[in-house]
Amino acid sequence: KAPKPAKSEAAAPKAPAKAVIAVASGKGGVGKSTTAANLAAACVKMGLSVGLMDADVYGPSAPRIFGLTGAPGLQKTDGGIEPLEAHGVKLVSMGFLVGERDPVVWRGPMVTGAIRQFLTEVNWGDLDVLIIDMPPGTGDAQLAIAQSAPISGVVIVSTPQTLALDDARKAVALFDRTAIPILGIVENMSFFLCPSCGEGTEIFGRGGARAEAELLGVPFLGEIPLHPELREASDEGRLVASGDGPVAKAFHRAASGMLH
Ligand code: ADP
Repeated sequence: KAPKPAKSEAAAPKAPAKAVIAVASGKGGVGKSTTAANLAAACVKMGLSVGLMDADVYGPSAPRIFGLTGAPGLQKTDGGIEPLEAHGVKLVSMGFLVGERDPVVWRGPMVTGAIRQFLTEVNWGDLDVLIIDMPPGTGDAQLAIAQSAPISGVVIVSTPQTLALDDARKAVALFDRTAIPILGIVENMSFFLCPSCGEGTEIFGRGGARAEAELLGVPFLGEIPLHPELREASDEGRLVASGDGPVAKAFHRAASGMLH
């Protein structure tokens, strides 16, 4: 069946959670998926029921981050699609649909179609929070998703570099156009936190995202350090924010900021 063009799309489907939060970034590689997954884990730690929809078709990384590589794909029955579950988070990913090694050439309408299906046909149960890991960028695909999902707010992830900040500004502008509230900006890789001595080193120059957030009049949700544990954990299917270390605490603070 041919997907309908965005303009004639029916009203946005009923919200699958009390809060549907999109995690977006102006460009790839800034740690958007890492942040989305750890914000989900932080919400679990607060005692909330949490789902995560990995909508990043171009590089679905939730299967790896949640330790579900090679897991059987999503099962569709008459009753709907059963999400997978890991670290207390109910999970669906484009990665479970397309296969992790398949080259993905999805057009915008296909992406919004799949997202609509994830929103309406997945048995999410009673979720407090559904986090959507958005595809990176600020183009038509992002706009279409924003318009087709009942998003209550968006968290923008940026690194402190000027280029990444320019992209974050574009992301803020994109969501402003859709009248979706910006819940705040998270600065990832703010500084290098040395795992052996605990000292912080400002590699890219720190504070850029905080200043940018002030300029744009959106909340600043905090700084996530560059820390080897985060990359290692992602590769091993662990989530740092499930624990209590300094990096975990940074995610806990960002999560409570975004829920306020
Ligand atoms: P994006 O979703 O923006 O493309 P990812 O979340 O996939 O980015 O992160 C890109 C890579 O950087 C991954 O290997 C991830 O483990 C690593 N990474 C992200 N944030 C951090 C951090 N704060 N410290 C260390 N490694 C990080």
